[in-house]
Amino acid sequence: MAKFIGIYGGTFDPIHLGHLTAASAVQKEIGLDEVRMVLSANPPHRIAPVLSAEQRFSLLKLAVSESPSLVADSCEMERSGPSYMVDTLSDFRRKYPNDSLVLVLGMEAFNGLMSWHRWEELIKLTHIVVTDRAGFDNQFEAAVKSYITPFLTKDKSQLKQQTHGKIYCQSVKPLDISATQIRQRIKDKKTVKEMLTSQCLDVINKNSFYR
Ligand code: ATP
Repeated sequence: MAKFIGIYGGTFDPIHLGHLTAASAVQKEIGLDEVRMVLSANPPHRIAPVLSAEQRFSLLKLAVSESPSLVADSCEMERSGPSYMVDTLSDFRRKYPNDSLVLVLGMEAFNGLMSWHRWEELIKLTHIVVTDRAGFDNQFEAAVKSYITPFLTKDKSQLKQQTHGKIYCQSVKPLDISATQIRQRIKDKKTVKEMLTSQCLDVINKNSFYR
């Protein structure tokens, strides 16, 4: 039987409950077999992460350890150079030629899509599910909107019927959490207890990360 695989990319500096809640909600609502949580080892569109890829990945592994349908994926750590999503998706497509792939993105990330490396190729490799994100304007930007119209669907069953090529919006009751906020709060000696799994919080505290 064909597989139905979600791909959730992030810098995860650190992984937080906003990521985990959104990924789990999409997995359940869409009926994905699993969601690969792909660590962006060398993120091309932002300032360098505070923690190393190895440190971020060990937090990611801990964070998903109690969620059987979320899998920590280090594929971008095995490549050199910038971690372009188009390369990751091409690798997934080679590995799973006849399966449905679903890239999961928050609305603010999706609105920046046109700045991504070889962005027009993404929809030829995968479906895209866009989630709402607290604290952001959850509207498609005008340029993005005109591009996506032919691919948009309101029927999520199409995602499983085809291997790629559809864009679907999934509401996820978003949590107002960002990794930036967490790093700043730790620096300011404020609590981040409600924003992370307890295991991640322990590791961050023990290693004095982000102080
Ligand atoms: P930073 O604050 O360091 O930029 P971030 O918290 O925005 O990080 P990333 O690690 O860059 O998160 O992960 C990016 C992906 O996770 C994007 O698709 C983004 O929309 C999604 N995401 C991040 N936080 C949330 C949240 N609270 N709810 C839903 N999606 C989220």
